[in-house]
Amino acid sequence: MSEQVGILCPRCGCRHLEVNYGRHRQGYYFRKRVCRNCGKEVRTKEVAMGVAPACNTGTGIREL
Ligand SMILES: [Zn+2]
Repeated sequence: MSEQVGILCPRCGCRHLEVNYGRHRQGYYFRKRVCRNCGKEVRTKEVAMGVAPACNTGTGIREL
């Protein structure tokens, strides 16, 4: 659970997941990503744990 970036598509295993929805919720940040390769929809829930790590997406995904 330590890695919140670099999420792999559960269907095809590629890393080309585009964020098409993102919203702050109570205590966490909800995202919906769509795989560019196979179209699989992947939902993620990012929770801040203590000290927030440096914002290092490395995937070119920008916060909306
Ligand atoms: Zn995929």
